[in-house]
Parts: sequence; C-alpha cells; structure tokens
Amino acid sequence: MPDDPEDDDALLDDALLDEGAVVALAELLGRSRRVVFFTGAGVSTESGLPDFRSSEGIWTRYDPRRLTFEQYVASADVRALHWRMRREFFALGARPNAAHLAVAAMETAGRSLGVITQNVDGLHTDAGSLTVVEIHGTARRITCLGVAPHDGVATGCGWSAGIEWAFERLDAGGADPHCPVCGGLVKSATISFGQALDADALARADALLAAADAVVVVGSSLQVYPAAGLPARAAARGVPCAILNREPTPLDDDVDVVVLGSAAVLLPRAVRTALTGV
Ligand code: NAD
Repeated sequence: MPDDPEDDDALLDDALLDEGAVVALAELLGRSRRVVFFTGAGVSTESGLPDFRSSEGIWTRYDPRRLTFEQYVASADVRALHWRMRREFFALGARPNAAHLAVAAMETAGRSLGVITQNVDGLHTDAGSLTVVEIHGTARRITCLGVAPHDGVATGCGWSAGIEWAFERLDAGGADPHCPVCGGLVKSATISFGQALDADALARADALLAAADAVVVVGSSLQVYPAAGLPARAAARGVPCAILNREPTPLDDDVDVVVLGSAAVLLPRAVRTALTGV
C-alpha cells in the first residue's frame, strides 16, 4: 500500500468524520469477490487535479457553455481554449494517489474485476489497474474528428496520436492543428459535452457491471449522464453498492453504504481492512 496519507492533519479530521460508514464499506469489500469501481473526478483531486463542480473546480475558471462538441467544431477560439486547458492539465504533473492505488490493489488481489472511470487523466492505469474502462475517453491522446462532424458524432478517418503531437504543433506556431491524413479537425480523445459516448466503451462498462457482485462509486457527483446511469442501474438491479464521496449524491438513498469524506484517506483504509482483516 502507498505512504500513509493520515500524516496530514486536515485529512485525518476528514477520515474521522465517518468511521462507522468506513467499517461498513470495508465489510462490503471484504465479502465481495467481483467488485467493480466507478470513479469520477473526485478520485483525482488529491493528485492535484481539480474536479468540475467543487469550489476550486474547473468550472470556476472556464465557462462550460463554451466547451461543447458543437462549439469546438464551430470555433477556432474554442479549440484554442481547449488546447490551453489541456496544457494546464498536463503541466500539473499529476501522479496516482492512495485511492487509485487502493483500487488497483483490489484487482491485484483478485477481488475486483476492474474500474470504470469518467476521468480522462490515465491515473488508474499509472496506479497499476489493468482493466480500466475510460467512458469519457483519455486526454493523453488526440483523435481525428473529421472535416465536418455534426450532431455530436465524430466522422474522423481514424487517425490518432499522443497529445504531445498537438503540443508540438502549437509550440511551432500552428494555432489550430488539423489531421495530417485527411485534414479534419483534431481534438483530445475525450468526450465533450454534447458528444456521443463511445459505444464500445459503454458495452465494456455494461459487461463489467453485469458480472459485478458489488459496485463502489468513488469521487463522483453522479450528475453527468449517461455515465451516472451505470451505477444507478446496478443499484436498481439489487447489486450491493457503496458511494464514497465528499458530499451527498442523488443516488445515496438507493445504495447500501454511503461514506462521506476523502477518497485518498478512507478508501485505502477500507481496502486494507477488506484484504488483511486489520
Ligand atoms: P464532478 O466534478 O461532477 O464531481 C466530483 C465529486 O467528487 C464531487 O461530488 C466532490 O464532492 C467529490 N470529491 C472531490 N474531491 C474528493 C475527494 N478527495 N474524495 C472524495 N470525493 C471527492 O466530477 P464527475 O462526477 O467525475 O463528473 C464530471 C466530469 O468531469 C466527468 O465526466 C470527468 O470526465 C470530468 N473530469 C475529469 C477530471 C480528471 O480526469 N481528473 C477532472 C475534472 C473533470
């Protein structure tokens, strides 16, 4: 397990908030053999990446109404804003925190089928998770959207590259890089507001959840649909579910365990107890 983050007094206060619920989460993890994690931006805030909706969140600095798929396609200014956001994101140099490592530890121990994440930061993979379904794509790559994408659907030629490709073009003075194969627009391989989800990723997420004997949501406001519908449908089918988040979510009344607090403090504690009994 990672360094103990409980050295931090602020995090320790947080951890003490909800001791009984952490025990309940540990028990749920302890009796399950096919846990599926469902994570959101909150699992990465303790790696230094802001989430969307918190007081320090990305939406306090960028107007989400300007960052839809249609606006991206229509406006070179919006594309410039997108690349600026991406640069800021990677300049943070985020590394996995104790929550990402705890998710990976469950899979390594043969007790988790994997993680479905809304995050685009790649930190679950960096932490050692092998089965990672990125339902909102990845910011580490870029992809061709095609010359005239419309109705939220990319019509690209299939060309893709690492995000560095775009940064190199921008550094060389190309303000609005285009696909080197077909001349189409390029964008990070993430799902923007108003953009259709990748059907293959959704199918893999559904398959994982269909096989799960427990679902644990970590760090998601569960307000972004259709992604938030995935744990909601598992709970409706009667799959035991838990939510670990800093604030209440709309699904809290429908799950078995709700833990309010820090993912990087409380999840490692629950996983350690589930795996070692200590
Ligand atoms: P969100 O911003 O809507 O919600 C995040 C939730 O996490 C909030 O309810 C917040 O209270 C909670 N939270 C924050 N820090 C926490 C912590 N340390 N421990 C426990 N809970 C914590 O994020 P979302 O539900 O993932 O949905 C918004 C969209 O934001 C997603 O589609 C995601 O792709 C995108 N996003 C991703 C990243 C990333 O990749 N790191 C960052 C920002 C936004």
